[in-house]
Amino acid sequence: MTVSKADYYEVLGVSREASDQELKSAYRKLALKHHPDRNPGDHAAEERFKQASEAYQVLCDADKRAAYDRYGHAGVGAASQGYGGPFAGSVDIGDIFGDLFGEMFNVGAQQQRGSRQHRGDDLRVDLSIEFEDAIFGAETEVKVRRLETCPTCSGRGSASGQGPTVCRQCQGRGQLRYQQGFFSVARTCNACGGTGSIIGDPCSTCRGETRVSKELKLNVKVPPGVEDGTRIRYAGEGDAGRSGGPKGDLYVVLSIQPHDLFERDGHDLRCVIPISFPQAALGAEIEIPGIDGPVNLKIPEGTQSGKELRVRGRGVPYLSSKGHGDLVVKVLVQVPRKLSRAQRELVAKLSDMLSVDNKPTSPSLIDKMKDLFN
Ligand SMILES: [Zn+2]
Ligand SMILES: [Zn+2]
Repeated sequence: MTVSKADYYEVLGVSREASDQELKSAYRKLALKHHPDRNPGDHAAEERFKQASEAYQVLCDADKRAAYDRYGHAGVGAASQGYGGPFAGSVDIGDIFGDLFGEMFNVGAQQQRGSRQHRGDDLRVDLSIEFEDAIFGAETEVKVRRLETCPTCSGRGSASGQGPTVCRQCQGRGQLRYQQGFFSVARTCNACGGTGSIIGDPCSTCRGETRVSKELKLNVKVPPGVEDGTRIRYAGEGDAGRSGGPKGDLYVVLSIQPHDLFERDGHDLRCVIPISFPQAALGAEIEIPGIDGPVNLKIPEGTQSGKELRVRGRGVPYLSSKGHGDLVVKVLVQVPRKLSRAQRELVAKLSDMLSVDNKPTSPSLIDKMKDLFN
């Protein structure tokens, strides 16, 4: 995994639900603290100042903030600034099941909530999609098995609703300490499973676990232009926490199936097309199949074998902005393996008129000259 760009909310030290006023005062504080005038020559401070300014610029704009919340950095064009990598196209879609499942809690918020409630686990679903679906976008369903708060006891875990009592074995600490040689070792309490509490009259549905496993179908919308390894995050769609604790997130990780004719290179599509010697020598206009329909390809006069011709805008759409990458067609001049008598005579005639200097050249020089050809 590559280093990812810092989360804008984390940069400003605010929650995802922060009001405009909170954003403003957080930014003001950071800007004052790290301002280059106050920290001459301190590059770390300068970097923080820049980060805070960038984060504030995005989050103070309602449209940009919405795009950032939904698609992450890719949503506000940060992907094109060199923050590529497998998760460059991280997409954040939180409203798939409607707004039924509450807000999202980050790790920081969870720790502040104390240890009684635990945030549910994040879940990962791997989804393999067709090559074309990654380009044009698609909608599909995946099955997800997750833990939900028990409907019988509403997450209390006890049949009477009395709720849990303090575990006697660990006195509510959740851990047992014992001496091993010189060391004091802590072990998770087996009586309460580390929760520090015991349920005397467990709920008959969840047996006191407070959650039940449920399978449901998740409607996944794949936006056009996703890359292999793109993670779509569904905030609050992971496992429910124990005892009604906050829900984890669900990640759908996309893998793109290969295509018979085309290869992805970021937002460019690549393919190889054979052309004849006369087409290469005289130039030609040919029609080739593109991923989105026929493409007119102009082969310039005197095209060398191996040259890459770029057809602008016929590649993969950008996830975060308008426009497409290019279709890059590598032409290979095909030499006929067999010639008829008539063809042979014509080629022989041509050979008398076209002579090549068969002098050796160093392979590394040819590599350098490739740049001239392409
Ligand atoms: Zn215990
Ligand atoms: Zn229950």
